[in-house]
Amino acid sequence: MLFEHISFKNHEKIIHAQDAKTGLKAIIAIHSTKAGPAAGGTRFYDYADSDAALTDVLRLSYGMTLKNIMAGLKVGGGKSVIIGDPKTIKTPELMASFAKAINDIGGQYYCAEDVGTSVEDMELVRKHTKFVAGLCTGEHASGDPSPFTALGVFIGIKASAKTKFGSDNLSGMRIAVLGLGHVGYDLATQLHKAGAKLLVADINVSVLEKAKIELNAEIIDVDKIAYADVDIFAPCAMGAIITDHLAQNIKAKVIAGAANNQLATPSVGEILTQNNILYAPDFVINAGGIINVENEILGNYNRANNLDKMATIGTTLLEIYEKSAADNLPTDKVAEQIALERVAAL
Ligand code: NAD
Repeated sequence: MLFEHISFKNHEKIIHAQDAKTGLKAIIAIHSTKAGPAAGGTRFYDYADSDAALTDVLRLSYGMTLKNIMAGLKVGGGKSVIIGDPKTIKTPELMASFAKAINDIGGQYYCAEDVGTSVEDMELVRKHTKFVAGLCTGEHASGDPSPFTALGVFIGIKASAKTKFGSDNLSGMRIAVLGLGHVGYDLATQLHKAGAKLLVADINVSVLEKAKIELNAEIIDVDKIAYADVDIFAPCAMGAIITDHLAQNIKAKVIAGAANNQLATPSVGEILTQNNILYAPDFVINAGGIINVENEILGNYNRANNLDKMATIGTTLLEIYEKSAADNLPTDKVAEQIALERVAAL
């Protein structure tokens, strides 16, 4: 049912990699190589079944095409998923077996970190293939992309606040952050420094205690944080968090966070627009990490340039918000339309 799959968007290649010896079960999806080699992280996650993994990798790889073109990068869209709980099944042998599968593709796809994989994992992958980025050693190594993603989201939140509240001064604003992982904690730290009052939630209790002490954050139930009485909601955990129900009932006036594929269904964007809630399209606001990784892949890494490029996340969002208001279209549809036009023009 691959070609009829609801999330299949004319992907160029879908590869299954399986190795009974190491327990590897992976899917690599290349959506588009029109702009350059496909690039996107490797998610290691305990999916309910392989169909859930396929849906995720199809959606995420399509999202990478949109993200990379919107950020003006010379890489296409791809993503890979490894099925299973990384805490129990991840071994150097399994990562080696995954790396060989990446190598067999011959450079049409570059992997990097995502949920469940780390810089250390990518260093292991590198022993078996050169088609990997987000490394911490080597001439063009760009390191962990997460701090760059967090910085891009911070810039995007400021642009969104300016549009919605008329000022990008976050001091005194109530901001809810769901997910205090690699990106979420760094973002929360920047928001705290900017004077925001933080409400936080995570399934990992230890990180919540840390945020309470270090960032004076108020801890909220995971199930309640999206409905909290705040100005801005920043989803930084998993996708599909914004459901029709949440879009009808959310109190925040801005949704701007790092998580990929935040909208649970295509209709959610329309409900948000009707309810006057400003949504920062995820594939625009969370591009900071891939902006930093792109020139490692192209072999011309330049950290200072990348930091400058982060500002474009804010300006691109402002353009999308203006067009959305002028055409009365949801921000996610406007952004997707612009991205697809740019890909078609390549
Ligand atoms: P991470 O795994 O480091 O952090 C995720 C955090 O969310 C963890 O603290 C985890 O405990 C928490 N979490 C997981 N499921 C949860 C749930 N159901 N309820 C509440 N908390 C939950 O991942 P990350 O690298 O920080 O990425 C966060 C999100 O941002 C992901 O959706 C990822 O795809 C996206 N993203 C990350 C990057 C990057 O550079 N790391 C780039 C672009 C997009």
